[in-house]
Amino acid sequence: NFISAVVPPNEIGVKFDDIGALEDVKRTLDELVTLPMRRPELFSHGNLLRPCKGVLLFGPPGTGKTLLAKALATEAGANFISITGSTLTSKWFGDAEKLTKALFSFASRLAPVIIFVDEVDSLLGARGGAFEHEATRRMRNEFMAAWDGLRSKESQQILILGATNRPFDLDDAVIRRLPRRIYVDLPDAQNRMKILKILLAKEKLESDFKFDELANATEGYSGSDLKNLCVAAAYRPVHELLEEEKKGRVSNENSYLRPLKLDDFIQAKAKVSSSVSYDA
Ligand code: ATP
Repeated sequence: NFISAVVPPNEIGVKFDDIGALEDVKRTLDELVTLPMRRPELFSHGNLLRPCKGVLLFGPPGTGKTLLAKALATEAGANFISITGSTLTSKWFGDAEKLTKALFSFASRLAPVIIFVDEVDSLLGARGGAFEHEATRRMRNEFMAAWDGLRSKESQQILILGATNRPFDLDDAVIRRLPRRIYVDLPDAQNRMKILKILLAKEKLESDFKFDELANATEGYSGSDLKNLCVAAAYRPVHELLEEEKKGRVSNENSYLRPLKLDDFIQAKAKVSSSVSYDA
């Protein structure tokens, strides 16, 4: 269980259309990854077009890096393997070599495959100097060696997709192996509106719901913050209804959840604030 997930492409359940905003990021990933994985024959001639073997997604927390990774596997028709840097290093001290070898030999049998390494900084962060744990160092060296083995097999459709909120903590050797780096930014008002429309697509909303007002009222919110805000807002009619039932004003049989109002979201902001602050 050091691999947190192995999912075939038709079972991932997220595609690019489910991700609001990030249009440039999706376009870049399509060209770098989807196209070579779907049409490998177009990348096997000459020297200019080569399938990309390593991509880094970096940016503030909650901006959709994990979501992008999963959707990319769907779009590219690739199996999806997900591992998390911090669990690898904390749980598997000692077995580093064996596990890394197992991971890579397993992965190469699943090609086309995307290996998503979340928190890549904690697995492959800057070398920790004299105090670094011996097992972490071994794990890193082993990972790099296995990774180089894969990279040298031109024909194999295996992509390592790293994600981090802390790109400056990454080792130079890792940066070199992830030649394409894509910044996943916090959404501006217009992009928050796009995300909100996706998050609320299946909810019952008051008629003429003012998406633009909500987008303007959520400066600094990441996609993940917006999701949490929507969940908190959606609880308000539920709590109201339960309250009414408790008072005996409505019975369970004819309970009716009212549509969500802009004010539910404004009130919910007290519970869910933006996790990235500009105060620093
Ligand atoms: P972290 O850096 O904290 O791991 P992350 O960048 O990987 O975060 P995700 O885990 O992908 O972010 O996002 C968390 C959740 O927020 C998603 O499962 C999704 O519900 C929502 N979300 C984030 N960004 C978007 C977006 N652009 N469109 C729709 N939903 C989004």
